[in-house]
Amino acid sequence: MVELTKQSEQILARLSELRTMDAPTHGGHVLSYVYDSGLAELDELAAQAIRTMQPVNGLDPTTFPSVAAMERDVIGFARRILHGDATSGAGATADTTIVGTVTSGGTESCLLAVKTARDLWRANGGTGTPRLLAPVTVHAAFHKAAHYFGLDLELVPVDTDGQLDANELILRFGADVALVVVSAPSYPFANLDPVEAVATAASIAGLSCHVDACIGGWVLPWWGSDLPAWDFAIAGVTSISADLHKFGYAPKGVSVLLQRGRDRQRHQYFATKRWPGYPVVNPTMLGSKSAGALAAGWAIIQRLGDDGFAALSQSCKRSTEALVTAADAIEGLRIVGSPIGPLFAIATDESAPLTSRVDPHHLADRMRQLGWLVQQQPGLTQSDGVRLQHTAHLTVTPVTESVLTDLIGALVQAADDVRGEPAVDPVRLLPALPELPAAILAGEQVLTSEQAFEILASLGIGADGADALPEHLAPLLAVMEALPAPLTERLLVELLARLAEPQH
Ligand SMILES: *Cc1c(COP(=O)(O)O)cnc(C)c1O
Repeated sequence: MVELTKQSEQILARLSELRTMDAPTHGGHVLSYVYDSGLAELDELAAQAIRTMQPVNGLDPTTFPSVAAMERDVIGFARRILHGDATSGAGATADTTIVGTVTSGGTESCLLAVKTARDLWRANGGTGTPRLLAPVTVHAAFHKAAHYFGLDLELVPVDTDGQLDANELILRFGADVALVVVSAPSYPFANLDPVEAVATAASIAGLSCHVDACIGGWVLPWWGSDLPAWDFAIAGVTSISADLHKFGYAPKGVSVLLQRGRDRQRHQYFATKRWPGYPVVNPTMLGSKSAGALAAGWAIIQRLGDDGFAALSQSCKRSTEALVTAADAIEGLRIVGSPIGPLFAIATDESAPLTSRVDPHHLADRMRQLGWLVQQQPGLTQSDGVRLQHTAHLTVTPVTESVLTDLIGALVQAADDVRGEPAVDPVRLLPALPELPAAILAGEQVLTSEQAFEILASLGIGADGADALPEHLAPLLAVMEALPAPLTERLLVELLARLAEPQH
């Protein structure tokens, strides 16, 4: 161990001080973003694995063969748990062999699934703008992928429980569809899409079908045998994304993308020799990259094995069932749909009388005051006019079990505290906004950063860098929901961009 100088010690002290501003990453009080196994040894193992790989450049596994060795192990494990072994390896064809890549996260896995499918579609003669077809509940990463890679995103409406009717999606199939995406499960409501019906129909139509198991991929394999098939056991599933930095309990920066068929997967790569530098060949979006999170994910897989993952998954399942039962029993609330996996969403029970309804965003604001962070999801009106209610989202992790009684108590108390308080009516808040020209409201006029900042300020946001958001988020979310999407999106950009600006 190298001794640190006084100056370095002070820098690290300052870093620790900065970290005290953050939401608590351990202990189960933050019910999104962080995935706490509750096992301190696992975190230490990950930290030492990262440390070991710190100087390595993951760009080139020929210079650093350890990177390829870890990747083979991780992909091999993922392929087995996702039922990809039966059609892979000895005796299998190049078309059916499941191969894969470790990426930097769920978004990169999703982006690459779309890029691969688009390039395969083009190679097969597709011309013009391809379509990306998915239910409304598909993760926003696919909106981003369509935007980055030039596909038309067609979102298929779901019912008020977030459930997709497979036929609604299948009847939109066409030769211009480069990729169909379903989720196992979806992030907003944890609904397990009808993967078998969709993937089988896609296969008959000759279409690629991705299963986004970013959140479910490292927990559903040990959830129980009563789940419908959703992985490579279904022949029509052509790719799957699964995040190690979620229920693989690895630090942020690691996910896997598995693809059916070597020839399909080669469209994921980028290679060029047409510059005066080293020959470039990249399976993923980055060039030089850290191998730290890969090493951490790899080490955790070795440490947990099937039995370890099974135990943690079953802990999540027990906690989720207890929470869903408790939340469903709270007067004025309802669970959205039939969630599968360690996450769920809570909405107002609109069949309850007004005085006993509980608004989920008021609930979340109250929960925050009580020391628990649950995520507020805005409502959404779909293209068919069917409205999805605004909700509160909870992701359950193994650590949840150690705080379960307190968490249920907080839910019950928060609901009691806000019961009968009506949802924020954005119309009453909009007058606080500066006089906005109609073209800006409609999102047709490009806002300058000053105009955007002024609108944010009128909403009470962003005045002070450290404390960018007001204590109660419900009014803000209601306004954001009511404003046109392009305007809201521009304001979000301004909010985040200002956070990173040096303060003189
Ligand atoms: C988290 C998630 C993603 C995106 O993953 P990031 O790791 O946040 O980039 C995609 N799909 C689903 C279903 C997810 O839960």
